[in-house]
Amino acid sequence: MEDKLTLMIPGPTPVPERVLQAMARHPIGHRSGAFSATLERVQQQLQWLHQTRNAILLLTGSGTAAMEAGIINTLSRGDRVLCGDNGKFGERWVKLARAYGLQVEVIQAPWGQPLDPADFAAALEADVDKTIRAVILTHSETSTGVLNDLQSIAAHVKAHGEALTIVDCVTSLGATAVPMDSWGLDVVASGSQKGYMMPPGLSFVSLSTRAWQAYERSDLPRFYLDLGRYRKAATAKSTPFTPAVNLVFALEAALTMLEREGLEAVFARHERHRAATQAGVKAMGLKLLAKEGHGSPAITAVIPGGDAERIRQHMKERFDILLAGGQDHLKGQIVRMGHLGFVCDRDVLTAVAALEAVLMELGEGHIKPGAGVAAAAAKLWP
Ligand SMILES: *Cc1c(COP(=O)(O)O)cnc(C)c1O
Repeated sequence: MEDKLTLMIPGPTPVPERVLQAMARHPIGHRSGAFSATLERVQQQLQWLHQTRNAILLLTGSGTAAMEAGIINTLSRGDRVLCGDNGKFGERWVKLARAYGLQVEVIQAPWGQPLDPADFAAALEADVDKTIRAVILTHSETSTGVLNDLQSIAAHVKAHGEALTIVDCVTSLGATAVPMDSWGLDVVASGSQKGYMMPPGLSFVSLSTRAWQAYERSDLPRFYLDLGRYRKAATAKSTPFTPAVNLVFALEAALTMLEREGLEAVFARHERHRAATQAGVKAMGLKLLAKEGHGSPAITAVIPGGDAERIRQHMKERFDILLAGGQDHLKGQIVRMGHLGFVCDRDVLTAVAALEAVLMELGEGHIKPGAGVAAAAAKLWP
């Protein structure tokens, strides 16, 4: 049906009407007092979301811009870094770090498995000369639906004493707690089209005091993404270049909605949707890609056993629900159901019911009609 498509992909995610309306106005001057006031409010809201006193810098660009900014503002050519890689986005970190001439040691886990904090502990403890400059990882690995144990890994980095923790929180921020200060995270990167309930186009990066000290030493080339410029401008409630002004209006509206809901309630909602999706899928006799107990609150990767692309196509054509497919070797093997951002219980229940209907229609699996919906519904009333 026209204009009815529901995004249940892990970004872009659905956007509330109120956020769309906030964008639908004339831009204002980005050097105006009115815009400064907006930036100031948004800054407080962003600090609340990140659970930090550090400034959150706004970049006009997708999440990868924030990731790249995190690297080039804190590290130097030839720096030794540990990179966690258990999926497509871990791989992106490895490629990004190598592109800037860093000496990358990869700590891997198979797709679907979480990174093992003990692997990081071992590498960090073995580094008696303290040459490791950073540990770089993805919190919620969107390609597999795995949530990595960031808190434990960050604690190992703290014990090392020298290395920074640089994290892609693109599909964890706004879905689960990312307390930047209490976990001691040094660089946190995220993007607007995920948990922020906004269209794509803005990204966010925050640096700890230690990361700013590293900034002073860092020698990688940078200009547009030189965060020193953003920090300086931010203290004057401004931005160094023309920001996506209308997206900042959207940001204020979206963060205000999240504030009203409350941080704990937002996380509880994502947890509930993870539980309902997982239960529904399992009750249909399908397997989950993520190791039991390590599923992401933002996305569930499902191994349907049959042709995943055909299932996706039917979900879209019959039910106007867009699911994501598998990437690389998982293409055709999995469907990924996003439950990130502006998603309510109804959306999750509908997606599970639609998947059940599609599987019955395609004769995939041995579905007991209603089993998926019943199992999912049971998790919505804990
Ligand atoms: C979406 C996403 C990104 C950012 O991708 P962009 O296309 O640059 O916005 C980065 N990391 C993860 C884990 C993601 O899900």
